[in-house]
Amino acid sequence: MEAPQKVFLLGAGGMGMAPLALYLQGAGVQVSAHDDHFREPLRSHLVESGVEVLSEPIPSFDPDCVIRSSAISEDSPLLESWKKKQIPIYRRGEFIARFASNKKILAIVGSHGKTTTAGMLVWALEQVGFDTSYLVGGLFAEDCLPPGKFAKNAWLLLEVDESDGTIDHYSPEITLALNCDWDHVERYASSNSFSDTLDSLFSRTGKTVLLPKGAKMEHSKSSLSSEKLERFDVSADPSDYMLNNMEAARAAGRCMGVDLSKVDFSQFPGMKRRQNLIFEGLNRTILEDYAHHPTEIRSFLSHRRNTDPESSMRVVFQPHRYSRTKALASRFAEELASADDLFLLPTYSAFEEFDAEGSVETLSGYLPPRLRAETRVYTDFQSLHDAIGPAPTGSGREQLLFVGAGDLNRWAYALASLEQAQGNKYDALSLFLKTRLSQACVIRADEPLASKTTMKVGGCARWYAEPANTEDLRVLVESCKLLDIPFCMMGRGSNLIVPDSGYGGLVLRLRGSFWSEINLRSDDTLVVGAGARLQEICRFACSNQLKGFEFLEGIPGTLGGALRMNAGAMGWETFDLVESVSFLLPDGTIKDIPGIDLEVGYRYCREAYDGIALRAKLKAEGCSDHRTIRKVIDKLAKQRKATQPREASAGCIFRNHEEAPAGLLIDQAGLKGEREGAAVVSPLHANFIVNEGGASADEVISLIKRVRQRVKDSKGKLLEPEVGLLGQNWNEYLS
Ligand SMILES: Cc1cc2nc3c(=O)[nH]c(=O)nc-3n(C[C@H](O)[C@H](O)[C@H](O)COP(=O)(O)OP(=O)(O)OC[C@H]3O[C@@H](n4cnc5c(N)ncnc54)[C@H](O)[C@@H]3O)c2cc1C
Repeated sequence: MEAPQKVFLLGAGGMGMAPLALYLQGAGVQVSAHDDHFREPLRSHLVESGVEVLSEPIPSFDPDCVIRSSAISEDSPLLESWKKKQIPIYRRGEFIARFASNKKILAIVGSHGKTTTAGMLVWALEQVGFDTSYLVGGLFAEDCLPPGKFAKNAWLLLEVDESDGTIDHYSPEITLALNCDWDHVERYASSNSFSDTLDSLFSRTGKTVLLPKGAKMEHSKSSLSSEKLERFDVSADPSDYMLNNMEAARAAGRCMGVDLSKVDFSQFPGMKRRQNLIFEGLNRTILEDYAHHPTEIRSFLSHRRNTDPESSMRVVFQPHRYSRTKALASRFAEELASADDLFLLPTYSAFEEFDAEGSVETLSGYLPPRLRAETRVYTDFQSLHDAIGPAPTGSGREQLLFVGAGDLNRWAYALASLEQAQGNKYDALSLFLKTRLSQACVIRADEPLASKTTMKVGGCARWYAEPANTEDLRVLVESCKLLDIPFCMMGRGSNLIVPDSGYGGLVLRLRGSFWSEINLRSDDTLVVGAGARLQEICRFACSNQLKGFEFLEGIPGTLGGALRMNAGAMGWETFDLVESVSFLLPDGTIKDIPGIDLEVGYRYCREAYDGIALRAKLKAEGCSDHRTIRKVIDKLAKQRKATQPREASAGCIFRNHEEAPAGLLIDQAGLKGEREGAAVVSPLHANFIVNEGGASADEVISLIKRVRQRVKDSKGKLLEPEVGLLGQNWNEYLS
């Protein structure tokens, strides 16, 4: 295969694809990568290495080929445009086998321990100064090394993914097979079909097949010649599995001709999510481990029992994939039976369709009566947290083990953060977020908010963040939900009153270049970030001769706030312009919804109320000369100047009444100039309350209450606030 110059990776946020992106970038290939679930620190690794990281699957160039992860199915709509353009599409493994055909591959295969062994070998080679290319399927602890790297050296160390069948494309120089236990049951119907796959890999291996001494691999029907076959020592004790991995790594080095005998493997920092100690207190230790196969669970739990025999062993387990749970349910239950206490989480699907027979409930059916009676399935963190309860006191000790390959590690870290923060969830939030946000994300405690609003009143936010990208935003929202901390959006704060007591949660603002981009598309639409100022959008449209955006000129908000409020002026509304809006929905998914499918009304959009608007596609009414558009803008601005006050305000305080404009009713009630401290009903426009300087939120709110009451008394009409009260409900103030 001719080496591609430009590639596009789809589903690049996982531990198969992201290391490949790093490897290719290092090899001088131009790489663009998309995933709708990038996580830190992986995302930053990619950006720093020069990979174009995209939240929309639209690379800035046409690639020579597209590489898809197993999570992107062959018939995914994401592939359609590339198929039309006849750009070749490869699965990850297929691509590596072709692209790296000039490399000597050392393939690491087997059912358990691959990532740790591959990581150990890479780390050990680094220790002796042997530079090599590698692709490892996990992150190194402390991020001491990247998970993928290209080096000019002839070797490529490759952790092989056996789950998608692409293993059949490899012909390695050396194969290191750690074990051969039945797994990936959705692909391999029996233990024999898995060992057959390994057998054929052995027969395609050029130089050496490295196997553990002992019985495990002897299922293999391979007729390996004795010159090709080498063995490494293994312990029979399952809790010694890290020792076995080390022996395997050493032996692999030997086969490559590199002496690793002097490397002190006890210094290996380890791989993330493997035997990971995340909290150590006087009476409670919390660890997480990736074990998701019965054999791995046996090894990990017996290792923990041996290491810490005095502590009770409480296990939180999340099965990974319905297919595996269904096939191995009784074996899972058998291994988990060694726990003193068991807490179960619903099966992590890993892209599989729901299958009731693979649900966690199937597994609990096999538990011994002692555990079955006590064990529950937890679908939310708070109830698990309550069930686990406080750490033992006095001489009591427990180890709390989070076991599984799904998303339960977030729960493990949330619990560890709460322990460390001694139950204070606000402090726990910052601990929890420590490694999860990009470097560019702003996060501060006790942030004053008054200056971030146009009314210029109110107190502080307990936490305040400016996410640098979609992933930051998603992580911040997820973390708040996990720790039961309220959060809310703030745009330009031009329709908000912040109470003097501030906000007892996290205030999120979409600031910075990522959120304020305005891009012109060839069909005369604008793709605009939710953080873009309305005035900027108006100016941009004008300079590109696009009509219809003129009314935005005098509205001092951002697009996000305008979508939420369906802001409007002089007969136009924001949703007159909207073709579609991309939202982060409450279930954590991102969805692009056509404008016509949105529930929109007067100063209202339900989806922006429930979710967070990220960006929108806005369509022009048509094209016109920019001078003509400018004239309309100037006319509207003049009109606004004549009718609206210039002092600090939050725009219209009340919604227009169905029978009359709110401003007219307030004026007729004789309230122009009415004041509470420095808060005054504007003499120019009665529906505006202005802050003459130094007003408090209490003054503004009590003036709002008074105006409302007086209009009700004198005009018999009840006005409802249009302006928002950050984190509070007007009903509590106005009833
Ligand atoms: C002088 C002045 C003139 C004004 N003139 C007008 C006018 O002519 N017409 C009009 O309609 N309004 C007007 N307003 C009110 C205000 O400017 C608009 O409602 C504007 O759209 C609010 O945008 P913002 O970014 O300031 O939102 P904010 O005030 O910060 O927030 C408003 C609401 O939107 C939510 N929000 C913010 N960002 C997002 C997001 N990304 N996703 C989901 N929800 C979000 C917030 O949580 C809040 O509930 C005026 C205000 C002032 C001060």
